Amino acid sequence: MSSDSPTQNSSRRVVVIGGGVVGLCSAYYLTKAGAEVTVVDTRAPQDPSCSTGNNGMVVPSHFVPLAAPGMVSKGIKMMLNRRSPFFIRPRASIDLIRWCLTFMGNSTQAHVEKCATTLRDLNLESRKLFLEISNDESNDFNLQKRGLFMMCATQQGLDAEGATAAYAKTLGLDVEMLDIAGVRALEPNIEINAVGAAHYRDDCHLAPDNFVEKLRLHLEALGVKFLWKAKVEAFATSGRKITDVTVNGTPHQPDHVVLTAGVWSKELAKKLGINLMMQSGKGYSLTLDKPIALPKHCAILSEGKVAITPMGDRLRFGGTMEIGGKKDVIDPLRLQGVIDTIPSVYPQFTAEQFEGVNPWNGLRPCSPDGMPYLGYSQKWDNLVVATGHSMMGLSMGPATGKIVTDFVTLGPSARTLNGCEVDRY
Ligand SMILES: Cc1cc2nc3c(=O)[nH]c(=O)nc-3n(C[C@H](O)[C@H](O)[C@H](O)COP(=O)(O)OP(=O)(O)OC[C@H]3O[C@@H](n4cnc5c(N)ncnc54)[C@H](O)[C@@H]3O)c2cc1C
Repeated sequence: MSSDSPTQNSSRRVVVIGGGVVGLCSAYYLTKAGAEVTVVDTRAPQDPSCSTGNNGMVVPSHFVPLAAPGMVSKGIKMMLNRRSPFFIRPRASIDLIRWCLTFMGNSTQAHVEKCATTLRDLNLESRKLFLEISNDESNDFNLQKRGLFMMCATQQGLDAEGATAAYAKTLGLDVEMLDIAGVRALEPNIEINAVGAAHYRDDCHLAPDNFVEKLRLHLEALGVKFLWKAKVEAFATSGRKITDVTVNGTPHQPDHVVLTAGVWSKELAKKLGINLMMQSGKGYSLTLDKPIALPKHCAILSEGKVAITPMGDRLRFGGTMEIGGKKDVIDPLRLQGVIDTIPSVYPQFTAEQFEGVNPWNGLRPCSPDGMPYLGYSQKWDNLVVATGHSMMGLSMGPATGKIVTDFVTLGPSARTLNGCEVDRY
């Protein structure tokens, strides 16, 4: 991370609410642009967050938003299985019902076509920025440019991935369909039972816990102020401006506010009269420190929806999307569903190897259309919102931070991002 000297807006004071990957990347580019940044977070710096235990994949391949054709019927089938990777936790909540109805309405091909280029561009921009950051920081977070396998256990799965890969090619992405011999040639160090894979060669992977730790230390060295174990409780406003941000009872008076509080952004936005339709999308991961075998590539099991990422010597397995799930409540059956899926494709890994491994859980901030909320709301002149990245917050983190900085320094017309409008619901 280069420590460029501030060039512009050196008098601009910015409060960033939330020190996850999106908040830290925003602080990084804001500081480079000369802003005086304070990051506020309810956690202690070493506490896990959604940004630490995830699968660390940087994914131009993920140009299809979560709300896509077939998701509703697949989701209903999966919900009948207690170990399935997708689940909506039922509860009597108007917000949840509205979210589900909006998700269903968005699960169309027209929606995919509307969002695909924005998602591709955000992920490709981030990939470029991750490479820049890794050059500046001696790649202390294991960034690997080997691509990602969408690994298929069945011919039906491979055919479906083939159709998505054909679409990816029309978007200019570098993807190749491989049969099992092709996969094994690239992965000689691990046993694989599959029919084949789509190999998205633009994708990368990294160790997200190392990335956010490195970024935090770098920002501290640059003079960014961190308020840890500090909660943003309230706002005071005047006209179209936020004048005060109250943190643990103490008011702060920034020139600009950046809202990057992940799934908690919804409640904070509500205090400012903004309706961010959002639900948590809970997932789990398990990390083996000494895995019996180590693949070279990250992979997603296309049918089982388990993600596998090598992180240096470690190997992380992640999965499940539990809409409306609560933080730190572990559902043993759903976790077992992740563990049971792995040996079907990677037979060297047995359930016993996961005994005693501490499960991590995180809440993805999920909008009902699979697109982030990124930009100004129509209500406030000094608030930029950056949240709702769902399963791609790590991947889109650096691009988001850069865009946030453009908005703060240049105003609302700095960028046009189709489908990311803050006031769209
Ligand atoms: C199993 C799993 C695997 C995943 N794999 C990937 C992957 O491979 N690639 C990818 O791109 N994404 C992945 N994701 C998604 C990714 O982890 C999230 O999109 C991302 O971490 C969201 O980052 P964030 O900064 O928006 O939110 P968070 O990391 O949740 O950060 C928000 C912060 O705001 C703080 N906060 C909340 N309220 C307040 C308040 N009132 N005052 C102050 N601070 C507050 C919180 O303490 C928190 O630290 C995965 C997620 C899961 C669960």
